[in-house]
Amino acid sequence: MILPIVAYGATVLRKVCKPIEAKYEGLATLIEDMWETMYESNGVGLAAPQINRDIRLFVMDSAQIFANSEPEDEAYSDAPGIKRVFINPQIIETGGKDWIYNEGCLSIPKIREDVSRPEWVTLSYLDEQFKSHTETFHGITARIIMHEYDHIEGKLFIDYIKPLKKKMLQGKLNDISKGKMRVDYKMTLGK
Ligand code: ZN
Repeated sequence: MILPIVAYGATVLRKVCKPIEAKYEGLATLIEDMWETMYESNGVGLAAPQINRDIRLFVMDSAQIFANSEPEDEAYSDAPGIKRVFINPQIIETGGKDWIYNEGCLSIPKIREDVSRPEWVTLSYLDEQFKSHTETFHGITARIIMHEYDHIEGKLFIDYIKPLKKKMLQGKLNDISKGKMRVDYKMTLGK
């Protein structure tokens, strides 16, 4: 089932999300719905607060980027990308050279800004079978993971941009929070 995506301005996007247990009701269906919602809206990642749940869960698929890109992008350190579910993730360490990428977010449509993030991230997490992993991710995969991880910490990519630039975006952000934007996927204002 395709779920509506919560728009910027909703309090759920500012919550530090709670860990879940294996018995969390309807988890398998929820994950399935998140995949469907993410692909339908042409996203590369989707975090639970974006579908109105304040739990530590996100899905991501960086393989899409490589599948749709120019051959020279195959040189990226994380080619061919991964598709994965992250439950109760915890960042252990980040490192490498910071690099800039023009990021966007399904909850903040039509706005893209350059964001600087570290090259790699090590995190512990559970997969959908609640098996525990500790793994290091690089490149665009690491970037998507850090963007989604921010969501479950109540953080958004626009928090990284300079105050002056943020001021210039304020009108657009207000419009999004009032539902005054046109997108080709289902959105909700939330609370
Ligand atoms: Zn996002």
